[in-house]
Amino acid sequence: MICSVCQQFPRDKDENAFVKGTTYLKIDGIQAHEVSESHIQANSRDSALKTPVHRSAACKTLTALKRQTMTNS
Ligand SMILES: [Zn+2]
Repeated sequence: MICSVCQQFPRDKDENAFVKGTTYLKIDGIQAHEVSESHIQANSRDSALKTPVHRSAACKTLTALKRQTMTNS
């Protein structure tokens, strides 16, 4: 079994068995991987790439700051 998200965004590929592939298919190992720091970060990177720039948190924040600056001047 592999984790495609962790393969795409490997952080600790030497320690993450789901990057190389594992034959350990018990639910406890899969659940542990799902909540691991490396998997969560890989998911965040994947989500960030799939989010259009105009919908990103950074863009929304900059737009709000720009509006606030324009109304205060
Ligand atoms: Zn993963």
